[in-house]
Amino acid sequence: AITDPLTGLYNRRYFEENINREAERSLRLGQPFSLISLDLDHLKTINDTYGHQYGDLAIKAISGVLKNKARSIDIPARIGGEEFNVLLPGIDSYKAMVAAERMRAAIEAVPIETIGGVTASIGVATFLEHSKNVFELTELADKAMYHAKINGRNQVQYSID
Ligand code: GH3
Ligand code: MG
Repeated sequence: AITDPLTGLYNRRYFEENINREAERSLRLGQPFSLISLDLDHLKTINDTYGHQYGDLAIKAISGVLKNKARSIDIPARIGGEEFNVLLPGIDSYKAMVAAERMRAAIEAVPIETIGGVTASIGVATFLEHSKNVFELTELADKAMYHAKINGRNQVQYSID
């Protein structure tokens, strides 16, 4: 299987295969690609307040947005419970920030039954620009996402390293 059963997004394994392949291609051609790291805000509170099935509904709503906003060559994936990555082939950091902001705004705008809505915190890092190593790139995107969390959530931050 290459997809996650709850959301229909790609799974972690498929994502990892593709990011490694994309890194090889990027190094060979000298073209960047970008990684978006996204985490739902306050999911624990949603679960505690409305129940786990509404937490699941929030996860599915976010997944729908990621699918809708992705180009056909992008790889939107569910990496963990409430943690998502989107691989954007050929996209530099400027275009990735634009894409990430579009996703953030679309997530915020989706109405969700009973809960009202959800937001997400997003980090962006770009291969060749911020790092030439997949592991390091992932860490930079996660760090940027964490920065978005501590800076108030519901926002996009790019890698500052
Ligand atoms: P933050 O804004 O800092 O990300 O807060 P948070 O509450 O989203 O993050 P935290 O890491 O404190 O808690 C994550 C919660 O997400 C706890 C866990 O039970 C819940 N979670 C993880 N996977 C799933 C899932 O598949 N379904 C549901 N309903 N909840 C999940
Ligand atoms: Mg969270």
